[in-house]
Amino acid sequence: MNRREIVIFILIDAMGWEWLKNRQFVDDVLVHKQPVKTILGFSSAAIPSILTGKFPEEHGRWNLLYYNSLTSPFRWTRWLHFLPNFLLENRVSRKLITVITKKLVKAEGYFSGYVPTNKLHLFDICEKYNIYKPGGIEGTKSIIDYLADCEVPHKVYSYHDYSDAETFSTLKEDLKDERCKVYFAYLPELDAFLHMNADKRDEVDKKLDWYEGNIRSVKNEAEALGANIRLFVFSDHGMAPITGHFDLIGLLRRNNIDMDKDCTAVFDSTMARFWSSSPEVLDHIRGVLSSCSAGELLSDEALRDMRVYFDDGRYGQVIFLMKPGTLIYPNLFGAHKPKGMHGFHPDDKHSYGSYLASVSTYKPDLITDLYQIMRDEIDRISKRKDG
Ligand SMILES: [Zn+2]
Repeated sequence: MNRREIVIFILIDAMGWEWLKNRQFVDDVLVHKQPVKTILGFSSAAIPSILTGKFPEEHGRWNLLYYNSLTSPFRWTRWLHFLPNFLLENRVSRKLITVITKKLVKAEGYFSGYVPTNKLHLFDICEKYNIYKPGGIEGTKSIIDYLADCEVPHKVYSYHDYSDAETFSTLKEDLKDERCKVYFAYLPELDAFLHMNADKRDEVDKKLDWYEGNIRSVKNEAEALGANIRLFVFSDHGMAPITGHFDLIGLLRRNNIDMDKDCTAVFDSTMARFWSSSPEVLDHIRGVLSSCSAGELLSDEALRDMRVYFDDGRYGQVIFLMKPGTLIYPNLFGAHKPKGMHGFHPDDKHSYGSYLASVSTYKPDLITDLYQIMRDEIDRISKRKDG
């Protein structure tokens, strides 16, 4: 009689290779370890790429906000524009706008505001639904759809239902379900921790010890139940310690670029994006940014190479990327200064994610390769006859 076999995929947000490469991490079980290259952007781009095996230019998801005033879920905020600025631009009002918008569009995806409230009505959000449910990535089949289509008994865990600690304890409990073959867990809390503590290596190691201990206890529980486990632990991107700040908004203002009248601008922590109906204004912005040494202006060719080019310019007609470790500051996030950030160039060593596995079968180069690994493992286990 065969022993029951199970496959466990654990996606730990921001578990960068640089943080992991010189330390142990369930070494006796996760015998294969390597870096895996991410794609330009944030989790809103990287996670759909892992779940679908496709690039942003194929699945359509890159930065969270894209320019489309016709479909914007924030259209209703135009009615707030008669209010004075101090009422619109504060943490409470922005939170309130998010909550109301989520209710209005019945969205359950993740979004937060980093556009001035008076420009929000121009933007749509690429992640409106829970991407960890079937149909969560509109227009593209994800690994979650594949699990459902194959009818392999499985369980999926994400922050929509659980904290990271709850995911581990629920997963361990669910191992007792003898029919279940595949477990997929998304754990987001290391990302938030690294944003705050990337300057404290000891604290980061303690946090990684916590994940290591939990993964080990999942494996011990499975073995105690008499199951063989195939374990895959990976991440979407890394986390770079912050080494400098640059006042990009100040630079643009000093060069007479009026971001209220002449153009619309979105400032993420590592990327600035611009839209304007005037080619002259766009050229002026390009001219100012091309001589700025704090980052690089991304050409269409560079965007194509990274598979994040959109010919309608919905994610930006001009896009500027900060050099690794440098944040755009001040920005619209307020006084908060993170100690770590991702979303820099994928070639930077701190951008690399990690891939660890209990088998040496696969050697992924890019995070998009993780999709096929999961598919192969699902195919393998769904053909296998237990008992
Ligand atoms: Zn993050």
